[in-house]
Amino acid sequence: MPIRLVIPNETAPGERRIALAPAVAKKLGDRGVQIAMQHGAALSSYFNDEDFTGVEIVADTATLYKDADLIFKVQPPTREELEQMKTGATIVSFMAAHKNAEMMQQMCEKKITSLAMELVPRITRAQSMDALSSQASIAGYMGVLMGAQLASVFFPMLTTAAGTIRPARIVIIGVGVAGLQAIATAKRLGAIVEAYDVRSATREQVESLGGKFIDTGVSAEGKGGYARELTDEEKQQQQDVLASHIAMADVVISTAAIPGRASPKIITEEMVKAMKPGAVIVDLASEGGGNCVLTKPGETIEYDHRVTIHGPLNVASELPIHASEMYAKNLFNLVSPFISEEGELALDISDEVIAGCLLTHDGAIVHAQYKNTNESGAE
Ligand code: NAD
Repeated sequence: MPIRLVIPNETAPGERRIALAPAVAKKLGDRGVQIAMQHGAALSSYFNDEDFTGVEIVADTATLYKDADLIFKVQPPTREELEQMKTGATIVSFMAAHKNAEMMQQMCEKKITSLAMELVPRITRAQSMDALSSQASIAGYMGVLMGAQLASVFFPMLTTAAGTIRPARIVIIGVGVAGLQAIATAKRLGAIVEAYDVRSATREQVESLGGKFIDTGVSAEGKGGYARELTDEEKQQQQDVLASHIAMADVVISTAAIPGRASPKIITEEMVKAMKPGAVIVDLASEGGGNCVLTKPGETIEYDHRVTIHGPLNVASELPIHASEMYAKNLFNLVSPFISEEGELALDISDEVIAGCLLTHDGAIVHAQYKNTNESGAE
């Protein structure tokens, strides 16, 4: 029997993305999947119910979830949503498992199979399923636009009748997916771009985008292409070199993160004090507390009437059409290899990608990172 896939309205405050886009709904429909979506669920992404050809529109979540075999979501399911789901259903979503022990417990009780999008392995085969990357590239792009809007100077060099305008100097800290997109975007706007990362492999990437790599002499490659935490000595060395570059910057975009940890504190109060009047910090690491010690996540503050520090949250949601389209494609690419010709879902939990992001299955937490998580969230 074909499976019934449902897509509810996202209820988290400020969430404008939706886990389905019209083109993906069509592809799934062609594969024989029955799809139902909550009425108006995609309006915050500027899609109308009528844009989803072949999708049943359902008024309330109780009806939606009652017969759902598969659920696509953006934000982790709430207690109420899980209560409405049927036993043994499968859900694919961002799960933020590190802070949702109770949710995992509830999913075990209902024997829900859950795939966490943030745990999809960063391997070549899974690139088209990598929602961390698709959403981070949006954050990098938006971060630069936010910086440009808050800045008190032009980004490009201009030759005008009123004189020549020098291009803005942008410093990008953290050259992962968001940082790379930020470099490319700032270059397109005509700025002078310098960038820094603790992973030395990023030097070539920065230079290939036309940026200048800031060499602090600190290299901290960790496992799986991620960075490791720095020692106190390395932190000091990093700060000494970075301080002089940050002092010259018109805009700093920081994106540095260590998976599962609070964002590393890289920009000190001293560094902010030394910045130019009118300078801006866009702290894209705000979700994890921020890379600047002064960042207030979710707020924009002006430090000492001189420096604006912007701490945006859920940045990808600010570009909801493309964020939803990209995210929905990631979901499709993850699940579609396991949909049979009859539209049935048969997940192969021994598949490397599925095994890597399988969080709960058959009444147990199965992901190695969270296996020992108890209800209080302690591991
Ligand atoms: P992330 O969001 O975890 O971190 C952003 C950047 O911050 C990283 O480049 C990291 O090195 C850097 N960083 C951490 N601590 C720092 C510090 N103290 N100072 C300066 N920089 C610091 O990273 P991400 O965007 O998720 O990417 C992580 C890695 O995964 C990268 O190597 C990326 O190329 C790789 N990746 C691989 C694939 C794939 O092959 N499928 C897909 C996406 C990303």
